[in-house]
Amino acid sequence: MNTSGIVGQSQLLRMMDSILSGGRIAHAYIFAGPRGAGKKTLSSLFVKAMLCRTPGDKPCHACKTCRQYDSGNHPDVSRISRPEDKQIIPVDLIRAMRDDIIVKPFQNGKKIFFIYEADRMTEQAQNALLKTLEEPPDHACIILLTENMNALLPTILSRCQIFRISSLPVRDAAQIVMQRLGLPAQEARVYAALARGIPGLALELAGDGDFREQRNRLLAGLDSAGLSGLLELGPVFAQRRESVFNLLDMVELWFRDLLVMKETGDESLVVNADKVDLLRRQTMRFTSKGLMDIIQSIERCARSLNNYGNFELAIDNMLLGFKEGVH
Ligand SMILES: [Zn+2]
Repeated sequence: MNTSGIVGQSQLLRMMDSILSGGRIAHAYIFAGPRGAGKKTLSSLFVKAMLCRTPGDKPCHACKTCRQYDSGNHPDVSRISRPEDKQIIPVDLIRAMRDDIIVKPFQNGKKIFFIYEADRMTEQAQNALLKTLEEPPDHACIILLTENMNALLPTILSRCQIFRISSLPVRDAAQIVMQRLGLPAQEARVYAALARGIPGLALELAGDGDFREQRNRLLAGLDSAGLSGLLELGPVFAQRRESVFNLLDMVELWFRDLLVMKETGDESLVVNADKVDLLRRQTMRFTSKGLMDIIQSIERCARSLNNYGNFELAIDNMLLGFKEGVH
């Protein structure tokens, strides 16, 4: 298989390769993993390699079928997704698929049906799909993508081959951020670490100008010793109410770096490598015990917000905790 451009996931790619080269293509596959893990990228590569007509390393990205696939106009590829105005995939979409799937493919290969957010299928829709999975036409291949396999009927799971897509090692996710967004290595690594190796999330954070600016404001703001200075950081968190956990993770990672530098003095171990000068300066201002208390105060804040505690109160308590951690 031609896997150029894909970073990491070597085990999964080997599995796909052996399926395709052995010609034992199942009737249904599930690509399961968290949002941003690469389900679309990897399932597309798999299908494209399945359809490509060039002998040798597939997909060639150049033949007619590859080009049709890339333009979204391959006549034997259908995509089913949740209607924009609905939270679910209704049964009629699956019934329409069942009518279509029995028709022979236009080209001399497989007929592919992607079902995105497959866990959003209603029970009725899942039962309709099950009927197809019980007696699929030879030419059919159904690809389910899901963040939540538990929401699929066990009878569906048992009829599909499952590809689990886990997060990547941080350095691999960082490489993707560098490739796609052209960020310097050190900064790319920060976002990859914050995203816990989930490439799509790392790209989202790194590509989010507001988040990058908030990070700069917070980290610079932590430099100001005064309590009033710290409390002024509250609004930065409030700006990001909806996804405040990203900021909390970011700040926690910062204090963990301070602790690592304090304890080991080894700058090569820190994640926030793009801001080593700032870290070095701040290390002086905290004791190890103070840093551990601060990390706990961040985790307390996250727990409180997770339990729908009062937003401003939780953030202010955390910031007060920062103040106490200072020398
Ligand atoms: Zn091709």
